[in-house]
Amino acid sequence: MDVSSSISRRRFLTGRGSSDRADPPRIAVSDLCLARSGVSCMACRDECEAGAIAFRPRLGGPFLPEIDGGLCTGCGNCVSVCPSSAIVLASLDGDRADV
Ligand code: SF4
Ligand code: SF4
Repeated sequence: MDVSSSISRRRFLTGRGSSDRADPPRIAVSDLCLARSGVSCMACRDECEAGAIAFRPRLGGPFLPEIDGGLCTGCGNCVSVCPSSAIVLASLDGDRADV
């Protein structure tokens, strides 16, 4: 069996992937996020080619964005499309993105 074909290119090149839950997110979503204020928005997910942003269902309000640190490349595409400037990039020295 060809094992290399069953892993992602990212995991193959970096040794990291979506199952590496220890990976810190390279971005963070602040309380400015419209979804946290009851407004339905998924603009960031639609812009993320890496599939690093997912929306977890919840009762009583719009779904909230969650970042998969193992998939996020830090490209910043989601930052520019966010209508409320709620997404910030982590510093380039590898610090965790906390808001
Ligand atoms: S684009 Fe911005 S406001 Fe919309 S869900 Fe993503 S973080 Fe929230
Ligand atoms: S920085 Fe890029 S890869 Fe990471 S969540 Fe935003 S759009 Fe996706």
